[in-house]
Amino acid sequence: MDTGQEGRMRLPEESCTLVAVGAGPAGLCAAREAAACGVRTTVLDENDKGGGQLIKQIHRFFGSREHGAGKRGFEIALELAEDCANAGAEIRLNHRVLGFFEDGRLLVEGDFIYVLEAKAVVLATGALERSFPFPGWTLPGVMGAGAAQTLVNVHGVLPGKRAVLVGSGNVGLIVAYQLLQAGMEVVGILEVEDRVGGYEVHESRVRREGVPIYLRHRLLAVEGLEGVEAVLAKDLEKGTVKRFHADTLCLAVGMIPQAELASMRGCRMVFVRELGGFIPWHDGDMRTDRPGVYVAGDAAGVEEASIAMDEGRLAGVAALEDLGALSPNEARKRKEELKRRLNLLRGGAAGRPRAMAKERLAAGWRHR
Ligand SMILES: Cc1cc2nc3c(=O)[nH]c(=O)nc-3n(C[C@H](O)[C@H](O)[C@H](O)COP(=O)(O)OP(=O)(O)OC[C@H]3O[C@@H](n4cnc5c(N)ncnc54)[C@H](O)[C@@H]3O)c2cc1C
Repeated sequence: MDTGQEGRMRLPEESCTLVAVGAGPAGLCAAREAAACGVRTTVLDENDKGGGQLIKQIHRFFGSREHGAGKRGFEIALELAEDCANAGAEIRLNHRVLGFFEDGRLLVEGDFIYVLEAKAVVLATGALERSFPFPGWTLPGVMGAGAAQTLVNVHGVLPGKRAVLVGSGNVGLIVAYQLLQAGMEVVGILEVEDRVGGYEVHESRVRREGVPIYLRHRLLAVEGLEGVEAVLAKDLEKGTVKRFHADTLCLAVGMIPQAELASMRGCRMVFVRELGGFIPWHDGDMRTDRPGVYVAGDAAGVEEASIAMDEGRLAGVAALEDLGALSPNEARKRKEELKRRLNLLRGGAAGRPRAMAKERLAAGWRHR
């Protein structure tokens, strides 16, 4: 550590051409594009493993073969990280981006705190689990379903013995099944709507294991002295209250884009309900309204891993074009192909509202 003339601490400084913040599918794919084109590329992730959410996914993925369908999430994570490193990108794990300086340089915490300057920054920081307050919500044993999944699949630790899940979307169904596989009892899944939110295949799997899904049931409270002892839910049809004996409550009630860094960088933020909340405004090529700043994956709107991969590639290609590392003609061809794939991925009933939201964003995009 150096000390300047005025006695102020001077932090070590480094530079690269493109930096991807986040080593999930979006960041790894963006970085791979850039590194494969000969651009000096660094990927930063605060986690000690690359792959983002995928490292805890032990189920086989759906979708197209190009996006790893049929493989387990953690296998896809390993492949993406290997591919990215083989292309020449430097992947720095245990490196957290703390923020931006006004001039766009990044403040990073690794073994020590340093400043990183990059001509292009791809923000691929993923999403956070949504939560909400209710009586008892701070008791030990109340957690996000993703947190329970991390405990079980990454650290090999059971969060408890008997779980109730809230939310019957894919995350709730998948995590319920994985808790069962790990040896926990799943007492039930509460769903406030009158139908299950996730795919039929995930629903059938938990139903086959005898897990009841309580439709039109609203979580009321969690009871316990030093931890969860019971979960109370209201049956909205009958108006009665049910009590479940459980020591774990997992919330699977949606994800929120993790886009604070974009906001700190001064990117224009917009609220898009279909995409999970506030996201940085971006055009159809994943450029934000800040020159040299791109966004991809769940940070640009909560969707799926396959979409995160192609959005990452798109952001990488757009950055290469802006850096002059790819000819406009080549960039155009690659972007067209990636957009075609993204349209296909968003083609289903669940994807269409998100596709329309992305189109609206792109159409309304203005450079500041
Ligand atoms: C239970 C569950 C099951 C799922 N199943 C499927 C499925 O079957 N198929 C599918 O397609 N998708 C699935 N998904 C969704 C998929 O995992 C995500 O859409 C995808 O991982 C998003 O990729 P990403 O790169 O945008 O973000 P992430 O994978 O979340 O990666 C973001 C990375 O950024 C890092 N990061 C964040 N902030 C910082 C910072 N300040 N400094 C440094 N690093 C930072 C994080 O550590 C993380 O590694 C599932 C998700 C969950 C929770």
